[in-house]
Amino acid sequence: VGELASLMNVSPTEVISACFSLGVMVTMNQRLEADTLLLVADEFGYKIEFSDADLEESVAEEEPDLEEDLVPRAPIVTVMGHVDHGKTSLLDYIRKTNVIAGESGGITQHIGAYNVKLENGQRITFLDTPGHEAFTAMRARGAQITDIVIIVIAADDDVMPQTKEAISHAQAAGVPMIIALNKVDKPNSNPDKIREQLSAMNILVEEWGGNVQSQEVSAKFGNNMDQLLEKVLLQAEMLELKANPNKLANGVVIEASLDKGRGYVTTMLVQSGTLKVGDYVLAGKNHGKVKAMLDERGKPMQEAGPSIPVTILGLDGAPTAGDKFRVFEDEREAKTIATKREQLQREQSIRTKKHLTLDELGRRIALGDFKELNIILKGDVDGSVEALSDQLQGLSTEEISVNIIHQGVGQITESDVLLAAASDAIMIGFNVRAGANAKDLADKEEIEIRTYSVIYAAIDDVKEAMEGMLSPEI
Ligand code: GDP
Repeated sequence: VGELASLMNVSPTEVISACFSLGVMVTMNQRLEADTLLLVADEFGYKIEFSDADLEESVAEEEPDLEEDLVPRAPIVTVMGHVDHGKTSLLDYIRKTNVIAGESGGITQHIGAYNVKLENGQRITFLDTPGHEAFTAMRARGAQITDIVIIVIAADDDVMPQTKEAISHAQAAGVPMIIALNKVDKPNSNPDKIREQLSAMNILVEEWGGNVQSQEVSAKFGNNMDQLLEKVLLQAEMLELKANPNKLANGVVIEASLDKGRGYVTTMLVQSGTLKVGDYVLAGKNHGKVKAMLDERGKPMQEAGPSIPVTILGLDGAPTAGDKFRVFEDEREAKTIATKREQLQREQSIRTKKHLTLDELGRRIALGDFKELNIILKGDVDGSVEALSDQLQGLSTEEISVNIIHQGVGQITESDVLLAAASDAIMIGFNVRAGANAKDLADKEEIEIRTYSVIYAAIDDVKEAMEGMLSPEI
């Protein structure tokens, strides 16, 4: 009650009496039910949206794992890069050539993720939907599952706009990158030129004294692919990836579909614990008992531990990619929560969390826990983007640092909007607008896009917002 009152800038007594008029007797420190919250906020002209975190709250908090229960797990890898630079070829090559000891033939099924065992016995899990859009869409839903990103760059081409985007998206997520300089079999390939272009973006590869690993490869012919995978393992070692396999499983939904013969088919990636046939699973707002479990080769399995992708049969619907899943001791608990979530979702109709806008900025700063202002900047020419970027970063104060998490030339794209949603960033366009699809997505995700044609106007707005003085945009 107290918190809600202060958020709405009214006195707690007013909230208490609003509750009273709804027939709910409350005190200052009481927690309000979701539907009461909605009605009371509405009284004062506010709209409440529940974030995924609020929905999760209905699920009891998990105990943190004890250090001695943790064991190493395989790294989870996403491949990104500019179109035609070889993402699919790279994933295909690994899928087809790396077979579990004793098995012949590669993986033929597409289930959204696959796990390979290398000759030295170590394992790597690849997410099989390449590209930064899928990666960031998951992140926008609160699911960060990737440990390492492979950025594929064709060495017979240049660092392209989508390469830059992919790098920004990986960096915004704080996920380490490994650069695959692809197509080195081509006579006109020039990997040094790419290293040079990367260094101009402050990305220095190891050969040049930096700390970003890179590997020349040919995804088409398989040259040096082993070395690339070794570098993935080396990076994984540095990350010390661990999980506790000895508990009820939880993880993330990778994809889901309805199969005529088998019912709902859901691919999930176990993050910790072990998933078993017969477990009761809650995934997003769907639930069910695991009737069967299959690996990426279509083979039945009885259990799956951390970092292992599995396809399960038995859910009562298709959850959304990025939904978290969890196993429950008994079916009733899973069912109750699933129903509750469905209700909450219906109430809020859209499921997005409230994103940052410039108007909101001053308020969040006043609340005191706001430390970083993320900005995505797109403009019509390189020079003005650079100038604006420098000046915006110059607005950083001791309390708040202004980070340009992505900047580029060209109109505002869907992937920019997704990045803004995932990183709670402000979108600024300078002499550019959002494309139609990007605009639709921004409306849906409630991301504000500010466009300017005068540099100082943009600077002034951000500055004023940081000082909490921006008058709301009409
Ligand atoms: P994606 O759009 O990034 O997924 O790129 P693809 O994997 O579809 O590759 C685009 C084109 O480049 C295809 O025609 C591939 O055969 C070709 N290609 C990919 N990797 C290599 C390589 O290492 N060498 C050569 N010569 N061609 C490649």
